[in-house]
Amino acid sequence: MPAAKIIMFSDGVSESNRLAKDALEAQHLSWDERSTATDAETNAFVRKLCGAAVSPVLYVKDQWLPDPTQEELLEATGVRFDIESCESRGQTIFDVVVVGLGPAGLAACHGCRLGGLSVLGLDENEPGGHLLPLTDVDEYLGVGFDEAVPGADIAANFAEHARHVGATLMQGKVNSIRIQGAFKRVHSTAGNFWARAVIIATGAAQRELKIEGVEKFLNRGIRYGAQVDAQIYTDRRVAVIGGGDEAMHAAIFLSRFAKFVTVLCPDDEPTAEPLLVERAIGNRVRVIPGTRVAAVKGDDALDYLFFVEKGIPEEQGLPLDAMVVALGPAPKTPIPGLERLPQDEGYFAHGEGGKTMFGGIYVAGDCTNIDTRTLMSVVASGSLCAKRLWQWLASHPLPKLKV
Ligand SMILES: Cc1cc2nc3c(=O)[nH]c(=O)nc-3n(C[C@H](O)[C@H](O)[C@H](O)COP(=O)(O)OP(=O)(O)OC[C@H]3O[C@@H](n4cnc5c(N)ncnc54)[C@H](O)[C@@H]3O)c2cc1C
Repeated sequence: MPAAKIIMFSDGVSESNRLAKDALEAQHLSWDERSTATDAETNAFVRKLCGAAVSPVLYVKDQWLPDPTQEELLEATGVRFDIESCESRGQTIFDVVVVGLGPAGLAACHGCRLGGLSVLGLDENEPGGHLLPLTDVDEYLGVGFDEAVPGADIAANFAEHARHVGATLMQGKVNSIRIQGAFKRVHSTAGNFWARAVIIATGAAQRELKIEGVEKFLNRGIRYGAQVDAQIYTDRRVAVIGGGDEAMHAAIFLSRFAKFVTVLCPDDEPTAEPLLVERAIGNRVRVIPGTRVAAVKGDDALDYLFFVEKGIPEEQGLPLDAMVVALGPAPKTPIPGLERLPQDEGYFAHGEGGKTMFGGIYVAGDCTNIDTRTLMSVVASGSLCAKRLWQWLASHPLPKLKV
C-alpha cells in the first residue's frame, strides 16, 4: 500500500503529465512522483497495472487513475465533489469571506470589492467591533478633531460604504475554517460558505485583571473596557486600571461625570499617546504610574482598592465606588482550523499585506502582531490586505478543466 495520499507515476514528458500537475498545483495539493522513465521497477509496475505504458497514472485516496482528465482528478481528490455538492445546495462560492467586521474587516471588504471580488463579511455581532462602544473617536484623520464623533457612527458609515460597493455583510459566528484544496470552507451560525480566500480580522480580547475581589464585584462596580455608561459613574469615585490609550480614553470620558478619577498605570510611565495623558491630567484625572493593584475589597459594594506604588513599600488603600479595567488588548484563541497559523505572542504573525503561510489565508487588524492598535493602522492593514489578496487570486486562477 503506498504511503502518500497522492502518487504520480509518470514518464515526465507527456502533455497529460503537465495537465495533471497543473490541476494538483492549482489546488495546492502535494504528491509523490515516481519515474517510469528512469526506474525499471516502476515502469514494470505500471505496465502490469494498466496492461500498457500509460503516463501519468495517479494513486489518489485508494483509487488508481490511469491518464485521468483534470475533472476526474479533481473529483478523486474530493475538491470537485465538494464544489458540486455546494452548488447543488444553492450555496455561492465567494472569492473572499472576511471573518470579523471591525474597522479592519470592513476596510478589507471594501478593498476586496474595489478589486472586483465577490465578498461575504461575517461578524457574530453587528459590524463595528471595538469601535462601537467608543464615545468619541478623535484620532482618525479628519474625524472628531472639532467635535466628539461616536465610534458607532463611524462604524455605521464604514459598513454602509462596504455594502454600497457590493459587499454582502451578515451576522454569524464563525466556528471553524477548513482548507480543502484551493477552497476554504467557513462554518458559521449563519450557514456554511465556500471561498477561494479568507481574511481573518477577529480583533483582540481584553487583558484580564487577576486579583482578589475582581470576580466578586464584576459588573457590580467593576467593568472591563471603556464601555462606560455615564449614569453609573455620576458623582462616583472611580479608578481606571491601565496606562494605554484605552485607559486614558476611559478616564477622560469618566472625568465629565465622576467625582474624581484615578488612573493606576502598571508601567513606570503611561504608555498612552502623550496628548491623551495631557488631556486626562487637564481634566483633573490623577495619574499614578508604576503601580501594582493588590486587591479590591468591600462587603456588599466595592469599597476599597489596595495597591503598591513603585518606591513606596507600604500597600496603599484608595476608597472608591467603581473601577474600570482597561489594561489593553490580549490575544484571542484562534478559530478552529487556524491553530497552525504561526503566532507571535498569541497574535497572528504574517508577511507583507497580511499574507500567511497558507495560500489564500490573510490576516488583518488587531488580531495580528501589528505595531500599533489604532483605528488608523487597522484600517490601513485591512485595505492593504485586500489589495494583496486580489493580486494573489489573480495569479492563482482555478485550473481549466480538460473536456
Ligand atoms: C477603549 C478603546 C478606545 C479606543 N480608542 C481609539 C481611538 O480613539 N482612536 C483609535 O484610532 N483607535 C482607538 N481604539 C483602537 C481601535 O478601536 C482598535 O484598534 C480597532 O477597533 C481594531 O479593529 P479590528 O477590526 O482589528 O478588531 P475589532 O474592532 O476588535 O473587531 C473584531 C470583530 O471580529 C468579530 N469576531 C471575532 N471573532 C469572531 C468569530 N469567530 N466569528 C465572527 N465574528 C468574530 C468581533 O465581533 C468584532 O466585531 C480604541 C480601542 C479601545 C478598546
